[in-house]
Formats: sequence, structure tokens, C-alpha cells
Amino acid sequence: MHESGQLTQIVEAVVTLEAPTPVPFATAFRRFREPGYRRFVGLWLLSLLVVVPSGLLTTLRGWTGIPVHIGGAEVYLTVYLPLLFCVPMVLWFGYWWGAVPAYLSTFVLALLSGMPLERTLLFALANPIGLAALILAFRALPMRTDLRSIPAALYFVMVAFIASIVGSAGSFVWAYTEEVGLNQLYPVWQGWWLGGFVQAVVLCMPLLIAAGPTVERWKRGLGVHTVGNGSWNRGTVMLGASTVIASIVAFVVVVRRFSFAALEKVLEGRPEAVGLRVDLENVMQGLSLPQWTLMTLLVVTLFFGFRIGFSWSTQYKALAAELEATNQKLKLTAITDPLTGAYNRGHLLEVLPREVSASLRHGLPLACLMLDLDHFKHINDRFGHLAGDDVLVSVAELIAGRLREEDVLARFGGEEFVVLMPQAEVAGARVLAEDIRRMIAELEFSFGSEDVRVTVSIGIAELADVEEPDAGRGLLALADTALYRAKRHGRDRLEVAGSERPEAVSA
Ligand code: GH3
Ligand code: MG
Ligand code: MG
Repeated sequence: MHESGQLTQIVEAVVTLEAPTPVPFATAFRRFREPGYRRFVGLWLLSLLVVVPSGLLTTLRGWTGIPVHIGGAEVYLTVYLPLLFCVPMVLWFGYWWGAVPAYLSTFVLALLSGMPLERTLLFALANPIGLAALILAFRALPMRTDLRSIPAALYFVMVAFIASIVGSAGSFVWAYTEEVGLNQLYPVWQGWWLGGFVQAVVLCMPLLIAAGPTVERWKRGLGVHTVGNGSWNRGTVMLGASTVIASIVAFVVVVRRFSFAALEKVLEGRPEAVGLRVDLENVMQGLSLPQWTLMTLLVVTLFFGFRIGFSWSTQYKALAAELEATNQKLKLTAITDPLTGAYNRGHLLEVLPREVSASLRHGLPLACLMLDLDHFKHINDRFGHLAGDDVLVSVAELIAGRLREEDVLARFGGEEFVVLMPQAEVAGARVLAEDIRRMIAELEFSFGSEDVRVTVSIGIAELADVEEPDAGRGLLALADTALYRAKRHGRDRLEVAGSERPEAVSA
């Protein structure tokens, strides 16, 4: 019992920790009147007031493509504060909670920088697409979003890298619009993805690890989470993955177009460079080759990554389900008598105090039958123990068939059974006992050429008559005393505890 309980806890812990519990976006707004959702959505809206303008700092403070020297090499970093909010939002609560602020902050920033509206609408999609890659990866595999395991942490680093590259597609739109020139495009682009990646790993990752469980508890406390559909089904993930892959392809195509457009501009009005143009175009086409190869590799990796992820997660889920089923079986085995299928004595002694206190609390009656087969030893002695076993099985089946849903039948000893009858008084218990007694007496067994009958003696007791402080024990003792009286008075009969006058006599 104890071990099986622990097993359940372990299974639950594993499943709970690894299954994300998102907050449904549209539902949260629809159910805004409920306190939990109001609190959650209210806090989110308030935080947008800070998060959305925080992106402006990147342009105001010149945080774009800051050169950083690492071991002699110069790399560029862009600091973009809204991502620090959006990445955890997406992993903790779901895609839209992070994607919406990501879109809005970029939109505001670009519009204020003078980007034309149509281009801004497109440009602002860059980070939401990167976030989509991130969340897709975490929904495809049952990975812990609190990153408190080495595989989950490594997975986050890898996925953050891919997501940053995907999201940085926007930098080309940016560079082109700002007419920063090709030589400036590189720092802008590298700053974007490397900055996003470094922010995610250095700042978001510790935050996710440190605050993950607290946030999970808070969300559950508010009652705004959804359980069970945390991981997306294959179709949804495949659709999302196709979108991400299509974005990568579009990204490469756009990069090429911009590069050639830039070349065009450089050579504009220089008729002397006509020969040079052909050479330059050849060089650029040549450079495109590794680019396309890399992209193909990325697409193939993503595709197979998802496939492997799916087979892992399917296996994992099957394993968890199997464990759960085994656990249930184990639980049942632990409380069941293997011969008769009735509950065992241990289970009876476990439920008895519960039933007693429930009855006392609600002022309801509780009756108890104790049954013992008469001269059962003779059956074993004459026909063998296997024949005796058959009789026990048939008797248990017969009794179980006469009980209500809430009655508890347990095999108390060798050929003794106890029936607990919640909400039943002596009168009702006696009717049932008499039925059982009669039906058992009518059972016919044939062992070899002999027809054999068995009888049963039954003691009946009621909780109201118990005087002992341990009422459960007292109830069993009363029923037992009544049973022995039935035996003394000739067997195949029932006796009610407390009544000294013999009750119903054998038919
Ligand atoms: P009484 O009418 O006084 O109850 O007589 P009895 O023979 O039924 O009582 P007693 O307690 O002397 O014997 C009970 C017998 O039940 C003894 C034992 O062999 C038999 N028994 C107990 N458990 C099992 C079992 O699992 N299978 C079989 N076949 N017999 C069992
Ligand atoms: Mg007996
Ligand atoms: Mg006995």
C-alpha cells in the first residue's frame, strides 16, 4: 500500500513537472470577471506599460550592435529588454502572453524610428516568429520549462540559439530601411541574434530556473492554468514547424535580395565597373551556395529533430501510462483477497475507522454483518481444500451480488466474511442477512458424485449499540459475539447483537 502510494506520487511528480500548464489566452479575457483571471490579466496588462516602451531604450541608448571583444575577436551585441519579459512569458503561460508584447514593443519602436507602416507591420513579426520556434520546441517534447534538469537546460540553450537566428531575420528589414549599408548590416544582424541569444541564456535561463516552480504554484493557486493539453498534438506542432521553416526560407531569400539590391546601389552610376559587376555577382552566387547548404541542413535538422522528439515523447507517454496502469493494478492487488476477489482484512481495517467517523459525523447509521460458514472443516476434510476453495469463491460471489454500491465486503479470515453497510440500520441489515443465509443454503455443489450444501451463521451489529471508545473495533466485537450466539443456537441462522431472544430461525 505504502510503496504503491509512493509510486503514484513519483509518477504524478514527473508528469506534473514536465507537462506545461499554459494559461489560455482568449479564455482569460472572456473570463475576466473571475477573480483569478482578473488578477492575472490585470497584472499582465500593467506589465505591458513597462515592457512595451522598454524596447525604446535600445535605440535611445544606442544598444544596437555594441562591439564586444571576446578573446581577441570582436562580436556585436544588441540589448533588447522586452525579450527578457517575453521569453519567460511564453514558457510559463503560453505563446500569446509573450508574442503580443514582443510584437507591440517592436512595432512602437519601429514606428517611432520613422519606418513606414506597412514595413513596420511585417518587421514587428520577427520576434514573435522567433518565440514561436522556442515554444514549438518545448511543446513538441515533454521538457521541463523550469529547466531544472541538464537535458532541459541544454535543450533551452540550443532552442534559444535557433529562435534567436530565426527572430533576427527582422534585422535585414531594419538595416535596409535605415539604409545602414551592407558593412553596417553585419553588426546589426549579429547583434540582434547574438544579443537575443546571450540575453536568453545569461538572464532568462537563471530566471526560469529560479522562479519556475513559484510561478507554477502561483498560476495553479489563481486557478487560471489548463492541465492536460500542455503539449501540442502532432498536427499543431507540424503546422508551427512548417511556419518556422518557411520563415527561415523566406529569410534567406530576403537576405539575397537585399544583398543584390545593395550591390546594385554600389555599382550605380559607375559604367567603368561593368566587368566588375559580373565578377562580383559570381562571387555572391558562390557565397550563396554554402548559405543554401546551411539552410537545407537547418531544415533537415529541424524536421528530424521534431520526428525524434515525437517518437521520444510518444514512448515517454506510453511508458507513463503503463506505469500508471501497473500502479493501479498494484493498488488493487494490495487490498484484494486473491481467492475470492473480496477486499482483504487489511483493507477492511483501513476503511472501518473512516466509515465509522463519517457515520458519527453525519449522524447516520452503520451496520455490520459477520458471516462464518458452518462446519466448513468437514467440507475440506471430505472433499479436499480445492473443493473448499470453490465453495468460498461461490459464497463470496453470491454475497457480493446482493450488496449495494456503498457496502464493503471483506474476507476477514479463512471462511469468515464481514460486510460493512453504511447508512443501514439493523432492520435493513437483517433483511439482507436473511436473504444471504437462505440463498447460501440453497446453493448446490457437486463434488465427485456427491451433492453438497453449505450453511452460514451470521452476526449483526449496529454502530448505535457500540459503547467502546474505539467504535470500529467495538462494532466488529459486537457482530462477532452475535455470530457466536448464532453458532451456539444451532447454526444456519442469524442473531442481532444485544437482543438475547433468538432471531429468525432456519428455514
Ligand atoms: P463452525 O461451524 O464452528 O464454524 O465450524 P468450522 O469447521 O467452519 O470452523 P473451524 O474454524 O474449525 O474451521 C474453519 C476451517 O476453514 C478450517 C480451515 O481448514 C478452513 N479454511 C480456512 N481458510 C481456508 C481456505 O482458504 N480454503 C479452504 N479450502 N479452507 C479454508
Ligand atoms: Mg466456520
Ligand atoms: Mg471460522
